[in-house]
Amino acid sequence: MDMTMVNVNPDLQALLEQTAALHKHLCPRQVLGVRMGMFAAEMFPIELPQNGKRLLAFVETDGCFADGVSVATGCSMGHRTMRLVDYGKVAATFVDTNTGRALRFVPCPDARMRAAAFASEAVTRWRAQLEAYQRIPNEELFIQREVTLTLDLGAIVGKPGTRTTCFACGEEVLNQREVVENGQPMCRSCAGEGYWSLRE
Ligand SMILES: [Zn+2]
Ligand SMILES: [Zn+2]
Repeated sequence: MDMTMVNVNPDLQALLEQTAALHKHLCPRQVLGVRMGMFAAEMFPIELPQNGKRLLAFVETDGCFADGVSVATGCSMGHRTMRLVDYGKVAATFVDTNTGRALRFVPCPDARMRAAAFASEAVTRWRAQLEAYQRIPNEELFIQREVTLTLDLGAIVGKPGTRTTCFACGEEVLNQREVVENGQPMCRSCAGEGYWSLRE
């Protein structure tokens, strides 16, 4: 497996090994995801990676970055503790569901430039990022802000285990994701929020 690990922090090392194993490679975005998750653990503070569902992660892009966040935090789609809000941004907001406190993290706009300076011996910019993102201190790598969720947490999580049937298409809808039309439950797709249509 091709992975360049330069950090002496054993926690980071172990998490990078896990995320690299998922991908058969290690890339700068995985490193950013892992570092972001570790930084969040420090800022709340909360013990991560979690086994339970206390922390909820909103990732703003999918791909390698999201897997890095997942490995570092224990948040995952499978546990319903990770949500994709696809803005195409390497950014994430973490919510402590015990307190409602929310922190959003994004790399500093000049993170790439800093990486080039930090690992100037690296042969390519990609490799400089891969190495530097493991070593640049949190405060120089990320911007971190307290935020307020504009979404209702209860509605996001829904009532796990609930299910109903869409009266239009007859398909099952889990976790209170239905809308109500004329007093009847309807799936979002039938309600006009669909992402597909049948081929003619
Ligand atoms: Zn990758
Ligand atoms: Zn339907």
